[in-house]
Amino acid sequence: MDFKYTQEFAESMDSSDKLAAFRDRFHFPKHNNQNKIYFTGNSLGLQPIEAKEAIQQELDDWSKFGVDGHFEAKNPWFSYHEDFKPLLAKMVGANAEEVTPMGGLTANLHFLMVSFYAPKGKKTKILCEAKAFPSDQYALESQVKFHSLNPEENIIELSPREGEYHLREEDILSKIEEHKDEIAMIMIGGVNYYTGQLMPMKNIAALAQEKNIIVGYDLAHAIGNVELKLHEWGVDFAAWCSYKYLNSGPGSVAGIYVHEKHGDNKDLNRFAGWWGTKPDDRFLMRKGFEADFGADGWQLSNAPVLAMAVHKKALEIHLEAGMDRLIEKQTKLTSYLEFILESVAKENNGLSFEVITPKERGCQLSMHMKGSGKELFNKMTEKGVVADWREPNVIRIAPVPLYNSYTDVYQFGKIISESFQELK
Ligand SMILES: *Cc1c(COP(=O)(O)O)cnc(C)c1O
Repeated sequence: MDFKYTQEFAESMDSSDKLAAFRDRFHFPKHNNQNKIYFTGNSLGLQPIEAKEAIQQELDDWSKFGVDGHFEAKNPWFSYHEDFKPLLAKMVGANAEEVTPMGGLTANLHFLMVSFYAPKGKKTKILCEAKAFPSDQYALESQVKFHSLNPEENIIELSPREGEYHLREEDILSKIEEHKDEIAMIMIGGVNYYTGQLMPMKNIAALAQEKNIIVGYDLAHAIGNVELKLHEWGVDFAAWCSYKYLNSGPGSVAGIYVHEKHGDNKDLNRFAGWWGTKPDDRFLMRKGFEADFGADGWQLSNAPVLAMAVHKKALEIHLEAGMDRLIEKQTKLTSYLEFILESVAKENNGLSFEVITPKERGCQLSMHMKGSGKELFNKMTEKGVVADWREPNVIRIAPVPLYNSYTDVYQFGKIISESFQELK
């Protein structure tokens, strides 16, 4: 596609964008009474305007019914999570029994690893990406220690080649091949939070299955951002949060996926709780845990309904837009951003940065700044841009197809130029 670095071009792209109207369904933080250029949907997605009404419904039912809301609320709280299953299944490419909303992301990773990281004999190691999101690193380390093993010896990290920023698929696959007899589990972020690289999830999962290795993905930066077919790919387990690309609010409820081949496996270890039992058993208060089938069997606690009310509304908005259409727009919008960044670098002698995100990606681009990146970042922030600074020198920008526009991207280019000129 032939892009142009002009306002007219950006506006014409917006006027032919079938998803453009979704922008009006979100609250934007303001700068001089204008919408800020919000490019941090990868960190905290914007609030759907309908969120308030969704929470209000549950508050009203709570005031009206008290405890009886578990069965008498408009959306009965006892079975609240059940409505999410078809929605989440569509988001990750799974069957409804394979997914459930629950808990928090890091906590869920732990619960899933209790079941799926089972070091035995020579197979004791975990393969992950180097510099994974810190919470994931801590979770992996502490899981290894939990089995009285040494993390130094039992965590294999995948690093980019010298002088490169992202992983090559061939290197990931050959590492698996090389250590196939020692790896118990692969746990990788589906989209890397720092570089924005989309991992070859399908091919990793295929090789893992061939080598009898469990494979789990952290989908924090992947869900609602890229196409996922967890069931078809044969992924064993996955977990995600809902406050990034899923717009469900700060710290809102997370979710899990467990492949149906494990759905009825009584031999797996589990840290169990009452919500993981079959619905008919849940209020019988009897001794002896019997897991419900599928992902629901990993639930522990009753649903945090107020947060989940927003989550459900946000998922409905995503599916109304349609993941296919979102991904189609995302490809164009991010390519436009890449084009704008190239144009801005050309027109500003001395402005130096490198986009370290490969072509395999979702909507995020990461700019590796050379020279005074932090001052430039601060200047752009003063001008109403919300982007994200990661030490030591990376700016992450995520134009989100659900609510960002081509004009946002164009204006962002103008602001980088202005900020750079003012600092010279
Ligand atoms: C955002 C993110 C987290 C955050 O974990 P919480 O438990 O939700 O606080 C963890 N891992 C990755 C890869 C993330 O991107």
